Amino acid sequence: MSKDLESQSKIYGKLKGPYTQKSVKKRIEALFLDNLGKVLTREQILEVAKDPVTKREPENWHQRLSELRTDDGYTILSWRNRGDLKIQEYVMPHAVKRPRAGKRLRPTDETWLGVLRRADYRCEWREGNEACGLREGEIDPVGGGRVKLTPDHKTPHAVSSDVNPHDPDQWQALCGRHQVMKKNYWDNNTGKLNVYAIIQAASHTEKEKVYEFLRE
Ligand SMILES: [Zn+2]
Repeated sequence: MSKDLESQSKIYGKLKGPYTQKSVKKRIEALFLDNLGKVLTREQILEVAKDPVTKREPENWHQRLSELRTDDGYTILSWRNRGDLKIQEYVMPHAVKRPRAGKRLRPTDETWLGVLRRADYRCEWREGNEACGLREGEIDPVGGGRVKLTPDHKTPHAVSSDVNPHDPDQWQALCGRHQVMKKNYWDNNTGKLNVYAIIQAASHTEKEKVYEFLRE
C-alpha cells in the first residue's frame, strides 16, 4: 500500500442516501461511491444493506462487499491493507475498477468435461474427510435451489500464475454454495484462509465456541 494512503488522515463517511437500489450489493456500492476516500464503518454499511422496505438485516452483506472487490473490480481497503483502519472499517479510495475483474478464467470445454466425469458430476469440495458430493441438478438441502456445478481453479492465482485451461488436475467442480465459500474465505492474494471472515460469518454459537477455545 502506498505511503500516501497511509498518511491520509481518517475522514469518516456519511450516509447520503436514500439508498433504495434493489440489491444489497447495489446499495453498498452506492454508499461507497458517495464516500470515496472516506472511512465507512460496519454499522453504516449494515444500515444501507438493510432492506429499504422491511428493514430486515441481511446476513450476507460481507459476501456482497467481497463481490464488489472480486467481481466488479473495485478497490476496498480494510485494516488488512491500510494500517490506520480498525477492524470493521472500510475505504474505497477511488472509483476505478480493475479491468480484468469479472472475467474468470475457465478450463476448455473438453477439460471441464473431464473434470465433471472425474467428479461423477458431484461437488468436489472437501472439509477434512467429508466431501460435499451434491449432484448437478439436485436440490441443495442447505442453501436451497438447484445445484449447478462450475469450474474452480484449485490454486490461488497469486500463488501460481500459470493457469492451464487444458489440465483437469488444476480444476475442480464446485456447487454454487462452495464457490461462494471459497471466494469469501480464501484470500487469493496470500493463498491463506481468511480466518477473520470465517469467524465473522459464523453463527453466535460457533463464535462462542471459538471464544471459549481461545480463552482456554
Ligand atoms: Zn458443494
